[in-house]
Amino acid sequence: MAEPLRVLVTGAAGQIAYSLLYSVARGDVFGKDQPIILVLLDIAPMMEVLNGVVMELMDCSLPLLAQVIPSCDEKEAFKDVDVAMLVGAMPRREGMERKDLLAANVKIFKSQGQAIDKVAKKNIKVVVVGNPANTNAYICKKYAPSIPPQNFTALTRLDQNRAQAQVAARLGVPNSAVRNCVIWGNHSSTQYPDLTYAVVNIKGEEVKAREAIKDDNWVKNEFVKTVQQRGAAVIKARKLSSAMSAAKAIVDHVHDWWFGVPEGNMVSMAVPSDGSYGIEEGLIYSFPVRTKPDHTYEIIKDLPIDDFSREKMDITMKELVDEKNMAMAACQD
Ligand code: NAD
Repeated sequence: MAEPLRVLVTGAAGQIAYSLLYSVARGDVFGKDQPIILVLLDIAPMMEVLNGVVMELMDCSLPLLAQVIPSCDEKEAFKDVDVAMLVGAMPRREGMERKDLLAANVKIFKSQGQAIDKVAKKNIKVVVVGNPANTNAYICKKYAPSIPPQNFTALTRLDQNRAQAQVAARLGVPNSAVRNCVIWGNHSSTQYPDLTYAVVNIKGEEVKAREAIKDDNWVKNEFVKTVQQRGAAVIKARKLSSAMSAAKAIVDHVHDWWFGVPEGNMVSMAVPSDGSYGIEEGLIYSFPVRTKPDHTYEIIKDLPIDDFSREKMDITMKELVDEKNMAMAACQD
């Protein structure tokens, strides 16, 4: 058996974590041969709830789960961590503006970035889920200068999965028949879900999704809007933000980062921009990436961008620049 991996989940007493922890602990992310030490961070008032979660994990009697460590102390929790899933944040409730969320949340990610910088493994891999996810990841990266910037990512896989499911439903094919839907930009309602490169397997034959759909009006309008607004639609219906689907997307994101994806496949991850596609360098922007088996990834370059896409990609970039400026100001307070 391999040495256990130390995996930290923040917001561990919350609803996404409740769906996520079982998947991580039973090997869905790092494989069935990889033992795990789970470190669970939440705030002090949630420690009683968190202890209930710890009891349940114990009662699952999982072969790969070497140890579970609950904590409300950042320095203790981030110590020697290999992979951090930063879920904990103040969640968006119905009608709440992202601006209000931003000020409350960036300070959490400044402090966690500082803890990562001081005590985590230097090759730690971080996925930020707590909203505003891209900007929280930007702040976390900024306050952890000793860690390679590309090790900080934010989750847009849920948006990719939503896009893929919309296409599958539209064409009446299984979800697994659709690949290479791309999410550009921010995990917010300005994101740009793009089907330009998507392909779909119909009765054994691979065709371009847009050619199979045969309705560019749907692709450019209803599809884009449905994916952009899906989070809000779930909140409206459930009175709580997406949790089961968010947990599944975290599993997909980290699994693919860890193991890589087959040649010819692309997945969407919000990662530090290297200036590709004219996106401001350093912003945490969702790009199509190719992940590799050595736990690295590269932004896929030189995809054709038409005028429609360019406009949408710039709108979401502008929102991220504004968020970054607000976040930096909030960090000085
Ligand atoms: P939740 O309220 O059920 O749980 C959040 C948990 O975080 C709570 O237990 C809270 O005590 C904890 N927390 C707050 N501050 C913390 C801190 N400083 N350190 C550690 N823990 C802290 O919320 P949830 O439904 O699990 O959602 C969590 C976050 O994920 C929200 O910000 C939500 O908007 C976001 N989200 C992101 C995506 C995405 O695709 N990126 C999708 C869904 C939800």
